[in-house]
Amino acid sequence: VTTFAGKKVAVFGLGGSGIATAKALVAGGAAVSAFDDNVDSVAAAALAGVPTVDLKQADFHEFEALVLAPGVPLTHPKPHWTVEKAKAARIPIIGDIELFCRERRAVAPKTRFIAITGTNGKSTTTALVAHLLRVAGRDVQIGGNFGPAVLSLDPLDDDRVYVIECSSFQIDLAPTLDPTVGVLLNVTEDHLDRHGSMERYAAIKAKLVRGADTAIVGIDDSWSAAIAAELDRAGKTLERISVRRPVADGYYADRGIIYEADDATSRKIVDLKGIGSLRGTHNAQNAATAIAAAMAIGISELTIIKGLKSFPGLAHRMEEVATIGKVLFVNDSKATNADAAEKALASFDRIYWIAGGKPKTGGITSLAPYFPKIAKAYLIGVAAETFAETLEGKVPYAIVGTMEAAVIAAARDAAEDPAPMPVVLLSPACASFDQYRNFEKRGDHFRSLVRALQPSSSIEE
Ligand code: ADP
Repeated sequence: VTTFAGKKVAVFGLGGSGIATAKALVAGGAAVSAFDDNVDSVAAAALAGVPTVDLKQADFHEFEALVLAPGVPLTHPKPHWTVEKAKAARIPIIGDIELFCRERRAVAPKTRFIAITGTNGKSTTTALVAHLLRVAGRDVQIGGNFGPAVLSLDPLDDDRVYVIECSSFQIDLAPTLDPTVGVLLNVTEDHLDRHGSMERYAAIKAKLVRGADTAIVGIDDSWSAAIAAELDRAGKTLERISVRRPVADGYYADRGIIYEADDATSRKIVDLKGIGSLRGTHNAQNAATAIAAAMAIGISELTIIKGLKSFPGLAHRMEEVATIGKVLFVNDSKATNADAAEKALASFDRIYWIAGGKPKTGGITSLAPYFPKIAKAYLIGVAAETFAETLEGKVPYAIVGTMEAAVIAAARDAAEDPAPMPVVLLSPACASFDQYRNFEKRGDHFRSLVRALQPSSSIEE
């Protein structure tokens, strides 16, 4: 990126994407001083050819800007020293998305750029939009908060479409964010400890759609509904998305069917029933939003429908791993809290539920409305005992301890169930760290155990 050609710039945070950012700046002719609090990261960056400097000793007045790598913890819980130094020197603090935007304006302003944010569903929607565009034969680059860092993607080109997932942190560090299509899925509290800062959180999310040529906004929560109303008043090109009620202009879902509405006339676009990777109301929101984004880029409706039907879904998010006999096996390892597990439990009727791990505050008490759908629970990890107490007298359960034992027991019990489609569901409502390195490893383990249950001929990929 050429924004800082011939100028000095500080880069802080040298994980994989920070290194990509520093290298892109160096390639564009900037004099980079890169640093990290972690000595191993500094060493790795130096090995990768990034010029490193102890920024603690540096005078920040020398720099044009401080570039914070994606993934550097925001200024909370306490202000970070680099941020303090940059503020004291009155230099801008920006991130990789800002660099991308500046470069796009400078070298390839016609490049289509779809930016996607929201509290939930970002990755699914980003992957779905990219899939729809690929099915349409477009040259698609996907990254940002999901996948590769934006500055490690293929270079800007008018014929490429960039589909970029943006975290709040990245938006906050992108003062001139100006996507062709800006998508805001929803704004909800994802952590109770953020309670005091919802206004600020929503204001950051609003920036992404305010700067967009076309804004696509979910209106089912009060925060994003307010943002949509503001954009509408400002005369912005706006598509509203709802999965609760019909909208006059935009896209809405009613019992799994997605409609396009124009001047209060609506038209059916597609029935999501039967598309396993887009099961559940939350996925109807993701799908309706993705349809709006693809339409805004000029993809034909026929191609969009074809793309929806062939969307494989994301690993570890309600991933349909196999159907053995009539039992469906679903890997929802990404559900690391009760809220996320709720979406999965809501999506099926007869559930053999594998849950547990490293528990979160509140446990699974909030899931009580779904208990009647659970044929039996198989409890693993540290949370097993407390989950058992919550289920006691309401849901049959077994404390099985490990994933191996859980998969074997759940598969056996589900196979004997006369229901039309019993589901063995891993949706743990817990972090994985007591037994796994991360939720991906946990989901991979589940998948391989399921695949080992039967000869490959009976497994639907
Ligand atoms: P993100 O990237 O925002 O974390 P993902 O697409 O990875 O979101 O989905 C993570 C989990 O969040 C899913 O397994 C599902 O339980 C839930 N989820 C997905 N989409 C939505 C949505 N539109 N609204 C609410 N929850 C959702």
